[in-house]
Amino acid sequence: MTLAEAQRTRKFWGWGYEGEGLPDAEVEEIGREMQTRFGVTAQATAAAPALASLSMPEPRLQPPQSLASLCSQDQRERAVHTLGKSYEDLVRGIRGDYGNAPDVVAYPRDEQDVENVLGWCAEHHVAAIPFGGGSSVVRGIEPDVGDAYAGAVSIDMRHLNRVLEVDRASRSALIQAGVLGPHLEEQLKPHGLTLRHFPQSFEMSTLGGWIATRSGGHYATLFTHIDEFVEGVTAITPRGTYETRRLPGSGAGPDPARLLIGSEGTLGVITRAWMRLQDRPRFRASAPFEFERVEDAWGATRAIAQSGLWPANCRLLDQREALFSGAGDGTRSLLIVTFESADHPLDAWFSRAAELCSDFRGTSPVELSGTSSDADAAHRGAAGAWRNAFIAGGHRHDAFVRLGLVMETFETAITWDRFPEFHAAVMTATEAAAERVCGRAMVSCRFAYAYPDGPAPYYTVLGQGRAGSELEQWAEIKAAASDAIIAAGGTITHHHAVGRYHRPWYDQERPPLFAEAYRAARRVLDPAGIMNPGVLLDP
Ligand SMILES: Cc1cc2nc3c(=O)[nH]c(=O)nc-3n(C[C@H](O)[C@H](O)[C@H](O)COP(=O)(O)OP(=O)(O)OC[C@H]3O[C@@H](n4cnc5c(N)ncnc54)[C@H](O)[C@@H]3O)c2cc1C
Repeated sequence: MTLAEAQRTRKFWGWGYEGEGLPDAEVEEIGREMQTRFGVTAQATAAAPALASLSMPEPRLQPPQSLASLCSQDQRERAVHTLGKSYEDLVRGIRGDYGNAPDVVAYPRDEQDVENVLGWCAEHHVAAIPFGGGSSVVRGIEPDVGDAYAGAVSIDMRHLNRVLEVDRASRSALIQAGVLGPHLEEQLKPHGLTLRHFPQSFEMSTLGGWIATRSGGHYATLFTHIDEFVEGVTAITPRGTYETRRLPGSGAGPDPARLLIGSEGTLGVITRAWMRLQDRPRFRASAPFEFERVEDAWGATRAIAQSGLWPANCRLLDQREALFSGAGDGTRSLLIVTFESADHPLDAWFSRAAELCSDFRGTSPVELSGTSSDADAAHRGAAGAWRNAFIAGGHRHDAFVRLGLVMETFETAITWDRFPEFHAAVMTATEAAAERVCGRAMVSCRFAYAYPDGPAPYYTVLGQGRAGSELEQWAEIKAAASDAIIAAGGTITHHHAVGRYHRPWYDQERPPLFAEAYRAARRVLDPAGIMNPGVLLDP
């Protein structure tokens, strides 16, 4: 992807760029598949909303002359910066609900611009909302700040999109925060390097957004969260620059970088970071394994996660998740195991993982081959079908909304010892709510990540929608699932962040003294309380 492509016109509703998306025939085919597989009936296929039909208030304020050249109040730009990409956002968007549009969108070109925008916001009590790719699914970028503020400015980081410096010896690079995933990888490729952090939203999310939300990439063991790759980070706060020292590790007290990692725009605007990189992999070994009993698949996943083999992928799909994504026929769970290396062939690791699967009665539907240097090795068969559905996730999500179906995911993490009871409680609560509000519904589970001490289960809910009631239907299911997660000791999010959406459950999860300490830190960095108010904590 070139820089020009990275700056194509983003859609204001739905995933990706203008001119992209699934054609109507393909959307309708998804509706037919869901009917056949799960008995849910789609409504008439709705069109994406037209700009002229949006309900959006007039701006409450104007940028000062000194910032005018960085700012836009164009309706389309305000719409792009109003809603994230969750099911709820998409339903509200298709109904034209853009009531929380920012008054101004600012596009800083350098750190001085960021400082100037924050200075203006602090002086006039305007909420400042950092915006990366806008792929938040937790209302993290929505300027829902109430009347206590004179208005809201969305600070879009798209122009800070360069790899500034590459240190080949330490295998790291200084990278600006507004770079989108593909454009970042394109700039690292000539150096033979990769960040190798691939969230499903990779195409439409940024380095700054990843750091601010503690995102998780799709590699399912070892390095998962972006946290592990941050060597040093810089943010502009309303009090000035916050820059951490660039180090491979340090034992000097609590880590100052960790205060910013996961701060979700509440402390300042992350502008650049030194990131640990990896050599581009050359060797791959991959195969799917099938299990008749999901309990066996859990056992094999745990054995692999605790073996020290560290496969790049160890992705478990239960029977229904395999059927949902088209990777299986619904009779077996599927564990996709992939090894990758830039340095060595992987036969020994792969054979051992295959033995562990076989210890739990797992069999592979394909003939196991050894290491391949073919980049497509992991892209064929059931593993390939799942991968294609994963990559198309954003566009498929739009399709479900256009079909009037209720379809959303939620995710968590729990230790292995508690997982079976936890999973049963979450499934029971979610299925009961989904059947109550949708009549016909399906809940499936995959593991997004597998740690030695526990999995990160990721649930998909599909239900029949009732025209006009989809938001209430999903809200009831989400509340039941989230209550069950918190009651059974899990986390409200493993990688989707807190935002505004998860606040009721995050407020129960985090220790009260932590909230006090974080609030105090926030008052130091942001005395006027302008940074993304309502996210993580009340100001
Ligand atoms: C289809 C789909 C798939 C997804 N898959 C994954 C996945 O696999 N893994 C995962 O972790 N998440 C996933 N997400 C969620 C989302 O993509 C992540 O939270 C991502 O990290 C957000 O990055 P962004 O650049 O889009 O940030 P935005 O959505 O723009 O912002 C997210 C939050 O970070 C803050 N922020 C953004 N940039 C900055 C900055 N420079 N400085 C300070 N604060 C900032 C914002 O204020 C907001 O609170 C998915 C979302 C969708 C819609």
